[in-house]
Amino acid sequence: MEKKRIYLSSPTMHGDEQRYVQEAFDTNWVAPLGPNVNAFEKEIAEYTHCGYAAALDSGTAAIHLSLKLLGAGQGDVVFVSDLTFSASCNPIRYENATPVFIDAEPDTWNMSPEALKRAFEKYPHPKAVLCVHLYGTPAKLDEIMAICEEHHVPLIEDAAESLGSTYKGRHTGTFGTYGIYSFNGNKIITTSGGGMFVSAREEAAKKVTFLATQARDPARHYQHSQIGYNYRMSNITAGIGRGQLMHLEEHKAKKKAIYEQYREAFADIPELTMNPLNPDGDANCWLSCMTIAEECKVTPDMIMDALAEENIETRPIWKPMHLQPVFAEYDFIPYNEDGSSVGEDIFDRGLCLPSDIKNTPEDMGLIIGIVRRFFR
Ligand SMILES: *Cc1c(COP(=O)(O)O)cnc(C)c1O
Repeated sequence: MEKKRIYLSSPTMHGDEQRYVQEAFDTNWVAPLGPNVNAFEKEIAEYTHCGYAAALDSGTAAIHLSLKLLGAGQGDVVFVSDLTFSASCNPIRYENATPVFIDAEPDTWNMSPEALKRAFEKYPHPKAVLCVHLYGTPAKLDEIMAICEEHHVPLIEDAAESLGSTYKGRHTGTFGTYGIYSFNGNKIITTSGGGMFVSAREEAAKKVTFLATQARDPARHYQHSQIGYNYRMSNITAGIGRGQLMHLEEHKAKKKAIYEQYREAFADIPELTMNPLNPDGDANCWLSCMTIAEECKVTPDMIMDALAEENIETRPIWKPMHLQPVFAEYDFIPYNEDGSSVGEDIFDRGLCLPSDIKNTPEDMGLIIGIVRRFFR
C-alpha cells in the first residue's frame, strides 16, 4: 500500500475562500478586476499596517516593480541577501542591474549587517538594499535600516516567506521603502499564486497598479507613454486570498507549534540545532529547519533520504546565490573575514523539515522518530 504523503508545506483551505470565489462567479466579477482585489488590498493593509497595498500575480512581480520604481537599471548595483530563493534576485537582472550578494549571519540566517557595511565600503552608491526574512524569521532590521539611512539608500523587504511575522511589534514588510509578500502555493497563506506590493506611500502603490495593468494613460483611447506589464491579480485569486487571510493567525500559531515540537523533540541531541529565531521578533515559523553539527557524520542527505523512504517531503536549505551558475559573475561579500560563507555552511549542514499545518500528531511522531534514529 502507498504510504500516506506528508508534505513540507501544502495549501490549507477552509471554505471561506470558496465563498468569496462563489461571490465573484455570482456577480460575474470573474475578470479582470473587481471587488475582491480592492478588498484584499485593504485587508492586507489593515492587517500589516503597511499603509497601501497593490495586489499582483506573484511576489516576483512585486519585487520587479519595486526595483522599477527605484529606477534600478544598467550600471546600478543592488545589494541582495545571498541565502535566499532565486526569485529575490532574478528581477534585478530583468532590469539589467548588477546584484551584489550579501552573506547571511549566524544569529538569524538573514543578511549580515557587518557584511552589508563592508559592501558599502566597496560599492558606496548602490541603488537599493533588498533584504529577505528567511523562513519567516525577521532580519536584524534596526541594524540594516540604520546602515541604509546612513547611506541614504532605500530598503526593499522581501517578506515573501514572513507574512505575519513581526519585529519589535511591527510587521515585516512594512519597515522598508517598499515591501513584498507572496501567496505562492506553499507559503503560509496561498491564493494558488499571487503577490502583494506594500508601501507607506500611496503614490507608490498607485504607480505599481498602473505599471501592472499595461501602463495605460488616463485617456479614452489606448494611450501609453511607458512600458507596462500584465502583473495584476485577478478577482478570483483575490477571493481565495481574502478567505485565507481570515486564517493567517491560526496558520501562524500552528506553524509555531510545529517548530516548538521539533525543538523540544531534538533538545537532547547536541548535534542538532533548529533554525534561529530573532529574539526581537515574533516569527511565523513558515518552515522549520535544522542544522547538523559540523563534526557529525550524519548528513542532511541521509536524513532527507530516510524521510523520503516513508513518503515524507523535505527540502534542502536554499542554495546560496553566489554559488548559482547563473549568478557566478557577480560579487559576493562574505560574513567571515577569511572569506568563508555562513550561508554556504548553513546550506551544507541544514535541511527544511515538514512544516505542514495539517500534519497530525502521528505524522510528527513518525518524522521525529526517523530523525532521532540517526543520533542514537
Ligand atoms: C516565494 C518567494 C518569492 C517569490 O514569490 P512568488 O510569489 O513565488 O513569485 C520571493 N522571495 C522569496 C524569498 C520567496 O520564498
